[in-house]
Amino acid sequence: MRVVVDLNKCQGYAQCAFLAPDVFALHGEESLVYDPCAGDEQRAQLARAVAACPVGAITADGTDDGAAPSAGPVRGTSDDR
Ligand code: SF4
Repeated sequence: MRVVVDLNKCQGYAQCAFLAPDVFALHGEESLVYDPCAGDEQRAQLARAVAACPVGAITADGTDDGAAPSAGPVRGTSDDR
């Protein structure tokens, strides 16, 4: 499953890291790291993370949120709060 996080939207709330810890992790308070090619076994956790992100920053194919993501950054900061 392809996963893309719009790091311009991400505010580091960490809901994704809590709900899908095998896909998302926060390093420090502002740097989100994630697996852009999550395994199918992560589908349920990933769907919950997509739904829970308060700013709608996560896109993943194969979840109810629909649209297939394009390639994007894997690591970055969300320090433009
Ligand atoms: S992607 Fe969403 S849930 Fe995850 S850290 Fe960023 S704002 Fe929070």
